[in-house]
Amino acid sequence: MGRGRREKTFACACTVLACALLVGAHLAAAPGPSVEGSAPEPGPDYPGHAAGIRERVKGQGFTVVIEPPFVVVGDEPAHLVKRRSVKTVRWAANMLKKDFFRRDPEKVVDIWLFKDKASYEKNTRAFFGIDPHTPFGFCSSDGRSLIMNIGTGGGTLVHEMVHAFMKPNFPQCPAWFNEGLGSLYEQCREKEGRIYGMTNWRLRGLQEAIRAGKVPLFEKLLSTTDHEFYKKDRGTNYAQARYLCYYLQEQGLLAGYYRGFRDNREDDPTGYKTLKKALGEEDMRVFQKKWESFVLKLTFP
Ligand SMILES: [Zn+2]
Repeated sequence: MGRGRREKTFACACTVLACALLVGAHLAAAPGPSVEGSAPEPGPDYPGHAAGIRERVKGQGFTVVIEPPFVVVGDEPAHLVKRRSVKTVRWAANMLKKDFFRRDPEKVVDIWLFKDKASYEKNTRAFFGIDPHTPFGFCSSDGRSLIMNIGTGGGTLVHEMVHAFMKPNFPQCPAWFNEGLGSLYEQCREKEGRIYGMTNWRLRGLQEAIRAGKVPLFEKLLSTTDHEFYKKDRGTNYAQARYLCYYLQEQGLLAGYYRGFRDNREDDPTGYKTLKKALGEEDMRVFQKKWESFVLKLTFP
C-alpha cells in the first residue's frame, strides 16, 4: 500500500509526501468567494469531525483539540497537546493569514502530533497504512492530514501549514515558491507582530554551493516545473528558494511579492517578471551577485 502511494508523489526533502498536496493543488478548485445576497456556505462541522477522530483513537492516550481550520490530535500529555495547539498551530495560522492567506482550507485538515519516533512510526502505519519516509513529518497524499513526529520540534509543522494554506489561496503556486516559503518558516519567531523566518540549517550547504559556483540563476530556478524542482534537484533548490524568500523578507518585500505573484499568475506563472519588478532590477545577473554576497554574510546558528 505504501509503495502505491509513494509512486503518486514527488519527494520533498523535508516531507516526502508534501508534494502530493501541491500536485493536487493544480487540480483542486479553490472555494469561490461568497456571492452577496446568497446564503453563506456552511463551514466544516468541527465538533462532528473531532468526535469521529476521538472515536478512532479511543483508549490510546490521545487528546483531540479543535483549532480551526485544523483539528489537532496528539499523544503527548493533554496539557502539551493543548499548548502546541495554541502556541504553534493557532499562532502560525494567525501570522500566516495576516501576511499571506485569506482563505482557510475548504475541508478540515487534521494535524497529528506523535510524541516520538516510536509513536510516529507505529501510528503512521496504524492510522494511514504507510511507512513515514522522513523523520520529521509530512502531509498525506490527499492533503487532509499533516503527520508529524513532534518530538523533533515544530519547524516542519509550520512548513507544512504553509502548504495547507497555499492550496486554497494560490493553487497554481509553483513548487519553488511553495517550498521556499514553507522552508523559510521552519525556523521562525514573531517580530513586530509578524511571522519572521530566521536563518537555519539549510544555509551552510547553500553557502558552499555559492562558493563552488554551483547555484543556478534565478531565471532557471523559477522556471523549474514541480517535477524538475523535486526530482532534478542538485541539492540547492530548497535552500536557494528559501534564501530568496529570506532576502525578500529582509527587504520588506516578501508579502507584497507573494500578492503580486498570485494576482499576476496568468501573465507570469513562474513569478520571474514579478520578482524583477519587486526588486526593481533590470539586470538579474547583477542581482544574483548581490544576493550571493548577502547569503555569504549570513550566519547560523
Ligand atoms: Zn514542503
